[in-house]
Amino acid sequence: MLSRIFGANKTAEVKPPLAPVAPPLPPGQDEDHVFVPLPNEEEQLPAAAIPLPGEGLSVAVSMGHGERIRGAKGILDEVVENRAVVMGVVDCLKKFGAKAVEFYDETSTTVAQNISAIVTWHKKQEADIDVAIHFNAFNGQAHGTEVIVKSDGNQDLANRVAVAMSMAGPFRLRPAQGDPIKAKLPGVALRDNLGFLNGLRARPSILIEVCFVDNANDAENYRKNKNEIHEAIAFALVEWWKGKGD
Ligand SMILES: [Zn+2]
Repeated sequence: MLSRIFGANKTAEVKPPLAPVAPPLPPGQDEDHVFVPLPNEEEQLPAAAIPLPGEGLSVAVSMGHGERIRGAKGILDEVVENRAVVMGVVDCLKKFGAKAVEFYDETSTTVAQNISAIVTWHKKQEADIDVAIHFNAFNGQAHGTEVIVKSDGNQDLANRVAVAMSMAGPFRLRPAQGDPIKAKLPGVALRDNLGFLNGLRARPSILIEVCFVDNANDAENYRKNKNEIHEAIAFALVEWWKGKGD
């Protein structure tokens, strides 16, 4: 019996155990370079919406002077360019996620009517900042950019906008002007005799003088870099407003 069993074992064919066989690796991979597949698109979480920088900010922007009560004329026509800058800045503010409203006085024929129309419109707006767009003019030689505020106004806001314009133009950043004790920051002019600023005291208001319409270099730089200047103004407003709570 035993011999039959052993005999049977002896004659049984013994096969060596099979070596495990791995599936072939895709081309370009070997055992040291195995790529981890990316999850399928449908398995990825949707990207969180990134808030735009200007969300929550509201700005009221008006054209200095009016269609029938013209401003300065030189190489550039101030009212034509005031209108273009308002449109450009408002577009950029919206692109940055801010709310922006615009005003163009098409009807006034006297300075008093014009100032009243602009101030009345601004007061009706629910805005965080009031902005008037102007260009400067003097003797053809004077040049550069500046922003005007009242002597107790927001010099930091005015300075930020002026610096942004001076880089985008590029324009000379005009030195601080007005009361020498109070005027601290370059690009800022302090004036207490402007109807726009005097009429709007409830919130930050600035009067922008982009550059000089009668200076050849300023006019050329403005024409070449309009879009950059509009964007720089809008971005400076957003940045100032964002940093206000810091
Ligand atoms: Zn003006």
